[in-house]
Parts: sequence; C-alpha cells; structure tokens
Amino acid sequence: MHVGRRRPRHRGVRHGDACGFIASTGVAGLTLGGGIGYLARRFGLTVDNLLAADVVLADGSFVTASETAHPDLFWALRGGGGNFGVVTSFTFRCHDIGENGVVVGGPVLYDLADAAEVMRWYRALSPSLPEELSGWIGLLTIPPAPPFPEELWGRKACGIVWCYTGPHDRADQVLEPVRTFGSPLLDGVQPLPFTALQSAFDALYPAGLQWYWRADFFHEISDAAIAVHERFGARLPTGHSTMHLYPIDGAAARVPEDATAFAYRDGGWAGVIVGVDPDPANAAAITQWAKDYWEELHPTSAGGAYVNFMMEEGQDRIRASYRGNYDRLAEVKRRYDPDNAFHLNQNVTPAR
Ligand SMILES: Cc1cc2nc3c(=O)[nH]c(=O)nc-3n(C[C@H](O)[C@H](O)[C@H](O)COP(=O)(O)OP(=O)(O)OC[C@H]3O[C@@H](n4cnc5c(N)ncnc54)[C@H](O)[C@@H]3O)c2cc1C
Repeated sequence: MHVGRRRPRHRGVRHGDACGFIASTGVAGLTLGGGIGYLARRFGLTVDNLLAADVVLADGSFVTASETAHPDLFWALRGGGGNFGVVTSFTFRCHDIGENGVVVGGPVLYDLADAAEVMRWYRALSPSLPEELSGWIGLLTIPPAPPFPEELWGRKACGIVWCYTGPHDRADQVLEPVRTFGSPLLDGVQPLPFTALQSAFDALYPAGLQWYWRADFFHEISDAAIAVHERFGARLPTGHSTMHLYPIDGAAARVPEDATAFAYRDGGWAGVIVGVDPDPANAAAITQWAKDYWEELHPTSAGGAYVNFMMEEGQDRIRASYRGNYDRLAEVKRRYDPDNAFHLNQNVTPAR
C-alpha cells in the first residue's frame, strides 16, 4: 500500500496495515519512530512493514530509500524519527487479517481494585497466547458517554483492549482464557472491522487537548511496577488521563536489534503515562501526576523509551532509547543532514 500526503483513514477492508491504536495519528511521525499497534505481535512494527520511502533531503534532493536504494538511509528512517529528511510517501506491506478484515476485539474492563490481579494474570498468560491475539493494558476513567453503560461512567478501571486477527472458528478457543478470567465490569470483545477497532477511541482524544506524557520500555511488568500502577491509577488526575502498556513481542521482538534503527526488541512492553485534559487550568495537575508516576516507575524500566512518546528529555535519554544503534544513526545523519537542519525532533546529532 502506498501512502502519500495524507493517510487514508479507512482503507480496503481485507487488509490491515501495522499502524497504531488511534486512527487519527499521523502516519509519518508514527512510522518514522517505529509504529506500535495491534498487529505488532503478529506482523511486527510499522517499520518492519515499510518497503520504501520517498524523501526530500536537507540539500533539496529527492530520493527513494529501500533495502536496495540508499539502504543506510532506509535503515535510519525505520525508527530514527524525522532526523533525515521530509518523507513524502511510504510504501507498506499489508496483510490479510481476520475474515475479510473483520477481527474479534474490543476492551474488557475491570474495577481498578483488580488492576494488580489483572496485570499478574496477563503477564503470566501472554507468552502462551498465539500471535494472532494481542492486548494492551490501560488504566483509565470510563468515559461518560455511550457505548459505556451509564452506571459505569466516571469509574476508574483497568482494561485490556484485545485484537484477535486469526480465523473466526478459532476465536472462542483462543479467547477462552479472556472470557473466563475475573469479574469484568464490561466485556466489549466482539467481531468488528479492524478499521473500526483502530478508530474506536478516536472520539475520546480529539485534536486540541493538552498532553503531557512520559514513557519507558519495560522488560517485564514487575511486582514493584504493579504496586506503582495501583497507586497512581487511583490518582488519575482527569478523565482523559491514562497509562498504557503496549506489548512489543512476537514478530516485533524477532527482528534483530540492529536490523532497523528502532532498538528495543527485547520482548517486553512500551509504557506511556499520559496526563491529558482540555482545560489549561489543569495543566499543572496533569503534568505533576505524570512526572511523579514516571519517577516512581522508571527504576523498574529497561531504560530508554519509545521516541514517539517522549518529551524534550535531553541527549542521554535519546541515546538510551537508541541503545547500540545511536552511533550508526549519527553517521547516517552526518551523511544526509550534516548541518542538522532537521533538529526539531528527538535529535540525533551528526557524527563529527
Ligand atoms: C492520540 C495519540 C495516539 C497515539 N497512538 C500511537 C500508537 O498507537 N502507536 C504509536 O506508535 N504511536 C502512537 N502515538 C504517538 C505517535 O506515533 C507520535 O505522536 C507521532 O509523532 C505522530 O506522528 P504525526 O505525523 O501525527 O506527528 P507530527 O506532530 O506531525 O510530527 C511529529 C514529528 O515527526 C516527524 N515527522 C512528521 N511527519 C514527517 C514527515 N513527513 N517527514 C519527516 N518527519 C516527519 C517530525 O520530526 C515531527 O516533528 C500516538 C499519539 C497520539 C497523540
């Protein structure tokens, strides 16, 4: 699939592209940072499904980067962010998923008091799940709007949003552990078009909200981490504020760490703590909550974070996020953008 100036929101129904969990996110920034989504476990990150990119370079020239043309640039574009040029189009590998693009997915929400139990259960279950099934964990406030039942509006919850992309006649068997665990407040797992699942949360996060986010990668969801999640989940400062843990395992973790610029391939999680609110008066509250949460959680992390979830956090954090790939990125940067024209990003400075 070829994606030019704008990302089409609803593409052909049979094929899935390995994009993110919210359909309105721009495809360019998402892809260039790595791209984590429902299909990562089965088909890898968005960058693992990138076949070519057209790029305007810092000197004004126009090139196509792929495995065979400018392979060093192509390597760097797959995770290195907007450091190397302006991408004007992407060509992706797409996949047949579900049945005619219909998957089985949706959220299962539990009371926040069950969060520790849910996280322990999921971390033990996850390695045994087929790669057709993926789920991300969230701590959230149940939105005060349909389709959520009115009696749950405003209640704090721990959720897992599932997506099963395999044949439907196996769905009951694969989802059996999900259907039989715990006492959910709501089980919204159902057949639906993949594009509908991808855009299910778009209305909750319209443009114009204020965001403050902090992030880390995690090898595991440790007991120490779970204790922190319980504490700060109970103190979600606003209805939009949330914490998400996205699995980076299966196909995404089988790609060697140095095969693309995206370096975190350890089979763990990308975590993000997000303070969000429409009202500027709440800016201090959402920021402080996210900072405090991150400070306590960070010691349980793998170090470094998904660059697409980072604020301006300094060069050490950028290096930590690219791990052993940083020096090669700096070399590619010297070749394609020696004067660092593209510096308004998680900046890789040109090697000297
Ligand atoms: C609501 C929400 C949900 C999200 N969900 C996910 C998710 O599920 N999975 C995930 O992986 N990430 C997710 N993200 C993070 C997302 O990947 C980053 O915010 C990303 O930067 C968005 O890209 P953009 O093109 O919309 O951003 P922009 O703000 O337009 O760009 C961000 C940066 O990307 C670079 N860039 C953008 N376009 C180009 C281009 N054409 N050429 C070169 N560089 C460019 C530039 O450095 C730019 O500063 C989410 C973010 C939000 C706000």
